[in-house]
Amino acid sequence: MNERVLVLGAGFGGLELSTMLSEAGVEVTLIDCSDAFVFGYSKLDVMFGRTSREAVRLPYDEIAKPGLRMLRETVTGIDPHARRVTTDAGVHEADHLVIALGAGYDLAATPGLAEHGEEFYSVAGAERLAGIIGSFSQGHAIVGVCGAPFKCPPAPSECALLLHDALTKRGVRDACEISFVIPLPRPVPPSPEASDALENAFAERDIRLVTGRRITSLEPGVARLDDGSRMQFDLFLGVPRHRAPDVVIESGMAEDGYIPVDSATLKTRFPGVHAVGDVTTAGVPKAGVFAEGAARVVAQQLIAELRGGEQPGRYLGQGSCYVEFGDGRVARVDIDFLSGAKKTGTFRAPSTELAEEKEHFGSSRRARWFAAPAAATLHDGE
Ligand SMILES: Cc1cc2nc3c(=O)[nH]c(=O)nc-3n(C[C@H](O)[C@H](O)[C@H](O)COP(=O)(O)OP(=O)(O)OC[C@H]3O[C@@H](n4cnc5c(N)ncnc54)[C@H](O)[C@@H]3O)c2cc1C
Repeated sequence: MNERVLVLGAGFGGLELSTMLSEAGVEVTLIDCSDAFVFGYSKLDVMFGRTSREAVRLPYDEIAKPGLRMLRETVTGIDPHARRVTTDAGVHEADHLVIALGAGYDLAATPGLAEHGEEFYSVAGAERLAGIIGSFSQGHAIVGVCGAPFKCPPAPSECALLLHDALTKRGVRDACEISFVIPLPRPVPPSPEASDALENAFAERDIRLVTGRRITSLEPGVARLDDGSRMQFDLFLGVPRHRAPDVVIESGMAEDGYIPVDSATLKTRFPGVHAVGDVTTAGVPKAGVFAEGAARVVAQQLIAELRGGEQPGRYLGQGSCYVEFGDGRVARVDIDFLSGAKKTGTFRAPSTELAEEKEHFGSSRRARWFAAPAAATLHDGE
């Protein structure tokens, strides 16, 4: 009995990994505390009233994969030496353990954020904002990032552009100001072209961009930045500081907040324990496509070990991120962080064709991860 594969977290990483193992006839237990998966970008759709929370939930009880046992449990302890995991329902022993628990939010790290601002990085926060944005008709809105690293680096830029669209459609844009505060030097640092395009889009729409600054605290109607300056606001749309889940920190696996891995193999320093996605420091941005790509490499390693065959090559840190520019147009940045000496990001300008491609990105994954094998579409290789 050396085949017990246990995957913690059914997000981008855990779902892709478990799907590949199931396809290869390897049994896998997948644990998540939630009852449904939601794509990160769906939060933007919910907050701008383009859809509802109910419509973007992909319930885990719809997963129909041979050999995949999905458990709704909360992980409360991880012993990486013994590969033993404790949950609110019991104890699980594993021969191969994969941590894919993502990154959570630390609202308390930004004093006043919970009391005086809003955040759009959780489904609940996005849903609450749908009502607030729908009735915001005058004043200063700040889209503010409270710390790096944060998930999907283009997402706050998308939020600022989509806010402009929403206010314009309601005929109140002239009565509103929009500012965007981001701790990075440019909106998408690995892609100068994407950054140029976003900076031009902000300028055309009269969105004030403040780079290299993060929000440190909020008081009623006032945001404080890390250079001590203050900005008044009527609506604050925040990206909270991120952190690995408490259970990961308490396991002793994290260093500087996240789990260090060999970025070529996604192995941790504990034998038989891998980690993928946002919970790691793998040298790639925190985004679903990278969690998914890392999961594929780990799945191939486990399949080679358990079923025979060649070990895969190293993880290359490549993936495409879609960027909403508003007005139904989407751009794409093709990131390559680990294949060569230089990190690159190739930009493809916004278009309605790329909006369709993004739609397919979501629907193909939904089919692949949730439907029974006969109905699942082939992987599109992104
Ligand atoms: C607004 C926004 C827009 C985004 N847009 C994009 C985009 O366009 N493209 C893209 O690629 N990425 C995007 N992302 C980022 C993407 O959502 C994440 O990077 C991705 O989900 C990370 O995958 P993961 O598998 O590492 O973790 P996650 O998908 O976060 O999965 C982690 C899972 O672990 C579970 N979990 C956590 N703690 C416990 C516990 N103690 N017990 C049991 N289960 C637990 C959680 O419930 C969760 O299901 C966006 C994110 C946001 C917020």
